[in-house]
Amino acid sequence: MLEEPNMTGRIRPCGGLDRERAQAMRAALLCWFDRERRELPWRAAAGESANPWAVLVSEVMLQQTTVATAAQRFPAFMARFPTPAALASSSLEEVLVAWQGLGYYRRARLLHACARAVVAAHGGRVPDTPEQLRALPGLGAYSAFAVAAIAFNRPVLPVDGNVARVGARLLGLSMPAHRVRATVARELAMLAEGPRPGDLAQALIELGALICRPRAPACDRCPLQRFCCAAESGRPEDFPLPSQRKTLPVRSTMAFFLQRPDGAILFRRRPEEGLLGGMIELPSSPWGSERSLEEHLAHAPASIAWRPLPGEVRHRFTHLELRVLLACGTLEENDVAGLWLTPADLAEVPLPTLTRKLLVQCGVVLPAR
Ligand code: SF4
Repeated sequence: MLEEPNMTGRIRPCGGLDRERAQAMRAALLCWFDRERRELPWRAAAGESANPWAVLVSEVMLQQTTVATAAQRFPAFMARFPTPAALASSSLEEVLVAWQGLGYYRRARLLHACARAVVAAHGGRVPDTPEQLRALPGLGAYSAFAVAAIAFNRPVLPVDGNVARVGARLLGLSMPAHRVRATVARELAMLAEGPRPGDLAQALIELGALICRPRAPACDRCPLQRFCCAAESGRPEDFPLPSQRKTLPVRSTMAFFLQRPDGAILFRRRPEEGLLGGMIELPSSPWGSERSLEEHLAHAPASIAWRPLPGEVRHRFTHLELRVLLACGTLEENDVAGLWLTPADLAEVPLPTLTRKLLVQCGVVLPAR
């Protein structure tokens, strides 16, 4: 465990990062991390080597899932796919089922492709340089740096949203949040050039999650307070400037909940390419602008008396907001062909969050994930 240096001299909080200053910040941060680090299922215990596959899987999970949810799902996923080879030799369907609850299924597809690439190009061992990692499916620049630092102690600084916020405050960057990453990566790169770059990266991410929160940062408990421009200003939450929330285009549709007399529900599979590729969903009218009930019903999968449900279900994708009306119907005979699944069958297929929301709205009790 590192001893925090005795910093009796006054440190100017705002200033460039020279070697001496970087060393003092690194020591303070690592000392805090040794004391406060959370136990996470993918995190190696203090002093132990990380499992690179566990780190890679966790980074893919954390791309669009909270730490709490990922920590809950991670142990079962790793028990099922403990190595790249185990995941590479499984079918995509099996991986998608195991991914349930984590959302954004495109990541599961890319992780499957990533495992196959690790087996094919690296003999089943996760490669250890940022360049090789970046070349794998599903790993962007941030994830490649994170795996390189955390799993292999490479001296690189991964800058996620948390680190960007901490960095913007340390440096006093008054620019919109979505524009600070490159500056923070450049200005704080020297922090990684010392011992334990993997712990350093995790410490900065952890500091952003636990102490330097977007609102009400706990500066009085922060190991970097004496280095921080934003804290010195007295209004740390003013850094960085807020990004304008994007107004997403809105699409409307009507989904059709059709049941057979035996209780089975009609689904369809989406095209392999594109949004929710290959996932199952309720049949629906094309996604588009608002339309009349008659226009929606022209796309219904059966000519029966449909019962529209009140209200609508809203679902936000990264690039659009979907508003879904629902209509329910029951067949008198089993005479419509298609993909029919009973509620019990639903435990065996990956269901995207949107489909789950719609089924719940129709009163279906879903199997636990
Ligand atoms: S002193 Fe406050 S604003 Fe500065 S890094 Fe620490 S928590 Fe964030």
